[in-house]
Order: sequence, then C-alpha cells, then structure tokens
Amino acid sequence: MSGILSGKVALITGASSGIGAAAARVFAREGAAVVLAARRERELRDLVDELTAKGFEAAYSVTDVTRPEEVERAVSTAVGDYGRLDVAFNNAGLGAEQTPMHLMDDEVFDAIVEVNLRGVWLCMSRQIRQMLAGGGGAIVNTSSVGGLVATPVAAPYVIAKHAVVGATRAAAAEYAKQGIRVNAIAPGTTRSEMIEAWFALRPGMEELLHAVTPQGRTAEPEEVAEAAAWLASDRASFVTGVTLPVDGGYTLI
Ligand code: NDP
Repeated sequence: MSGILSGKVALITGASSGIGAAAARVFAREGAAVVLAARRERELRDLVDELTAKGFEAAYSVTDVTRPEEVERAVSTAVGDYGRLDVAFNNAGLGAEQTPMHLMDDEVFDAIVEVNLRGVWLCMSRQIRQMLAGGGGAIVNTSSVGGLVATPVAAPYVIAKHAVVGATRAAAAEYAKQGIRVNAIAPGTTRSEMIEAWFALRPGMEELLHAVTPQGRTAEPEEVAEAAAWLASDRASFVTGVTLPVDGGYTLI
C-alpha cells in the first residue's frame, strides 16, 4: 500500500461523523490501518465495513473521550489489533449555542471543556505513553479558528479550543526529543453535523461567515482531513507544535 501514511497505525477520535469520518477515509486511502473512536457504535461499524470492503485495515472502539478507561481501551485496540500506535488524530469535539457568558449555565462550560480540552488531555497522555514505548509517533489535535481568534461561538468553546493550542505546544516541547511530534489543525467553517445544527439555529450565519472568509465558502470535511493526514505523516517530519489554520483564509483578516 503506497501513501503518505503507508504502514502507520492511526487512532482517530470523533470518527463517527464529519471531519473524523473523512479522516478515516483519507488516512486509510493513504495507507494507514485506522482505529475509529466515538460514542455512536452503529456509525463506527458502518464506516469500518465501508473501509474493509475496499480492502483497507480498519477497526473501531466505542469511546467516550471523557472516560479514561475508554480512551485506554481505544489505544489498546490499536496495539492489540495492529501491534502499535504511530498516529493519533484527537478530533472529537462538542459545540454549543452562543449564549452571553453572564447568562450561560456553568454546566455548559463544564461539558464543553470536558470533551474539547480534558478529552484531548486524556487522549494525548495515554497515546504518548504508548508512543514512548513504541519509539515515537505523531499526534494531531483538532482546535478551531475559535482557538486562534474569538469567533461568534460559545465562549467556553473559544476557551477550550485556545487551550488545545496550548496543550499542543506543551506536549510538542516535552516530547520532541523522544520522537513524538504534536501539532494541531484549526478548521474554519466545515460542513458537518455540528455546523449544520448551528446554521439551522442561526439563519444567516453561513452567509455571514462566507462574507468574512476570503475563499468565501464552507469547507468539505475531506479538505480538513487532508491537512491532518499531512501533519500526521513523515512528510511533516520537522513540523511540531504548530496549529495550522485550514480556514479558507478566515484568520487572515
Ligand atoms: P461532528 O459533530 O460531525 O463530529 C463531532 C465528533 O465528535 C463526532 O464523531 C462525535 O461522535 C464526536 N464526539 C463528541 N463528543 C464525544 C465524546 N464525548 N467522546 C467521543 N467522541 C465524541 O462535527 P465536526 O466533524 O465538525 O467536528 C470535529 C472537530 O472539528 C471538533 O473538535 C470540532 O470542534 C472541530 N471543528 C469543527 C468546525 C466546523 O466548522 N465543522 C470548525 C472548527 C473546528 P459521537 O457523537 O458518536 O461520540
């Protein structure tokens, strides 16, 4: 199998839809054996069936990224099924309707930070343990343009996604000498379940975002997944600690 991820074993969280499902297809096409993690089993099973029917190597592990034991089981699935863990794409995330901070329930803050930040923490720490044992690896975390600037989304989302940028830098610095690269992507508006739900609640928001995006459109999930695949691959061998905007120029202006 040729491809930029040829021979790699990759764990992808949030793989049941959107960017994560697109990454499963792109990573597999690029030669990786993929282990798909998310909470919805049926979607994961269907995607594994689709990939294996094409001759790719794929497995799944039902995982809530806020539960350490489930994250550990996902890592163990990669090692058990394919012998090691080379690549992790920590992409699971949760959005929330924008409510002014002073009116927002604390529980909304907790829920968003729990998945979008603590989930990334739990995943990275467990993946790094395994990658150290295996001699190295590459991690890509999904931040957001909301991790670089204050976008018109819920403040806890902006807070958590900024923290993902910090978590990426901290891990990149700590493990660079041990052969582990850690980077992030910052997608702009990307067609997925999360964004469709948000657009449905906020008529006119899609057009507004297009107006402030130089490329003037919403990305397809595959376009974001391609960037993650490159960062995860050996082609990006001297790239670590960066957060790559994949945003049609949104953060340029
Ligand atoms: P989707 O809603 O399609 O995907 C979100 C994924 O996260 C699903 O697979 C969902 O699976 C998973 N997920 C949510 N909570 C958990 C959890 N507790 N444990 C495990 N998995 C979980 O949206 P996107 O594809 O757009 O989102 C992917 C990432 O991209 C997110 O981190 C999001 O914040 C980020 N992003 C998206 C943008 C966009 O415009 N779409 C822009 C910038 C960033 P399940 O429900 O089965 O658990």
